[in-house]
Amino acid sequence: MIEKYRIVIGCEIHCQLTTKTKAFCACENRYGGMPDTRVCPVCLGLPGAMPRISKGYVEMGVIAGTALNCQIANYAKFDRKHYFYPDLTKGYQITQYDLPLCRDGHVDLPFARLPENLQPGGKDVYLKTFAGENCNIDNKYKRIRVERIHLEEDVGKSLHLEGKYSYIDYNRSGTPLIEIVTKPDMNSPEEAALFMETVQEILRYVKVTNGNLEEGNMRCDANINLTVWEDGKEYHTPISEIKNLNSFRSIKDACAYEAKRQLEEFINDRQPFDPGFKNTMGWNEIEGKTVIQRTKNSFVDYRFVVEPDIKPFTVSDSFISKAASKVGELPEAKRNRLKKEYGLSDFDVTTLTSSRDLALWFEEAAKHSKDVKKTANLILAELLAVLNEKEQKITDVKITPVHISQLSDAASSGKITSKQVKDVFVEMMETNKYPEEIIKERGFVVVDDSAAISQFVKQVLDTNPKAIADYKGGKTNVVGWLMGQVMKLSGGKANPKSATEMLKKELEKI
Ligand SMILES: [Zn+2]
Repeated sequence: MIEKYRIVIGCEIHCQLTTKTKAFCACENRYGGMPDTRVCPVCLGLPGAMPRISKGYVEMGVIAGTALNCQIANYAKFDRKHYFYPDLTKGYQITQYDLPLCRDGHVDLPFARLPENLQPGGKDVYLKTFAGENCNIDNKYKRIRVERIHLEEDVGKSLHLEGKYSYIDYNRSGTPLIEIVTKPDMNSPEEAALFMETVQEILRYVKVTNGNLEEGNMRCDANINLTVWEDGKEYHTPISEIKNLNSFRSIKDACAYEAKRQLEEFINDRQPFDPGFKNTMGWNEIEGKTVIQRTKNSFVDYRFVVEPDIKPFTVSDSFISKAASKVGELPEAKRNRLKKEYGLSDFDVTTLTSSRDLALWFEEAAKHSKDVKKTANLILAELLAVLNEKEQKITDVKITPVHISQLSDAASSGKITSKQVKDVFVEMMETNKYPEEIIKERGFVVVDDSAAISQFVKQVLDTNPKAIADYKGGKTNVVGWLMGQVMKLSGGKANPKSATEMLKKELEKI
């Protein structure tokens, strides 16, 4: 009888870097465009062409490794991995085999972003201890170990068109990649998806990748199997490697499906476990099924050899520390700091740190503001709404953080009404004028003079006897309508708080 089973997942993430040129030649590194327009003898693998590595490529690898808490090697080399595929003209891929650039890192997944059953105390949570280190970090994070990060080149892209023709676009051939390999530390499909999401966020923050999954900038291969306890004995199901998962959803769905399939196979058609072999699978998103592409009987020997055209290279400590200094504050640390410093909510902080540029923009505005919460609200409710509508980024806006902090100060000091805040915002976005200038030009000044407000209130009450009768008859919601009349009469300039108080006072008297 099966007592329990545990899912075990390790990930390999391929991530394209944003260097100006390709990995080993001077061709432009860019997505899309006419096929085969950015190629040369090196990235086409023509005989005699000599590859060269650029410092920028290695530097991005070091930045990524530092951001994922890795040890960076002082000595590394490239190797050839041989296999045949039409998108690989050379017949081998340049990669790093036994001396990768980065090793022994980790990524911490916030428990708060996992379902309750996977949080400490939850019924499906699995927290292990590895070599002197617990993967439960202060009950806040689950630590996933990164075994290695190595540099390699991408291959061309196969296009299967009209259901009958296959084409290859070699623009992608030679695009610089890093491959991030984890230990098998994930124990649920949700953790695997969150791992990919967290890595995407970190690597976008440190600007080594665009991280656009739909453009194939990041792809994940998930290695998954089960540990099953049956009649007091422990068993392992054969490992499946699900290739090329290109969305968070597909990682989650594919792992969930495969875990279920392996459990059924364990019950109905048990296969032996061999740590050296795995089934290679694809994910059919439309049918929601994993599909076997290659079984353990067709084991591939890549015949790794040292790449003879690129010398092994040293990475100096000063090069590493210079690259590492570009990493800066990472998203989770930033969120924790902003929450503590400004007392903002989880939701606000998560949105404000969704990109490093937005976070820096907010912090600049906060620096100049008297009321940071108000400033955050203006960015979240007004500015981001406009950006979303226009499909723009924060770097596309013309106004400066000072514009927002001026508007925030005017609003929180009660200098202008909330209606006027909106008007100033719209004009500011159109003209790029500073709020103080707009407020002056448009004569937006709140009337806080009690004599003037009481005059407006009296006039409204004198001309609306029916509303007063309704109020006396118990319809208290008529106050809102009367307030509207007072604001209208004042041209929107009356301080709404004082006006409401005065109106209520006058109504009591009648
Ligand atoms: Zn090239």
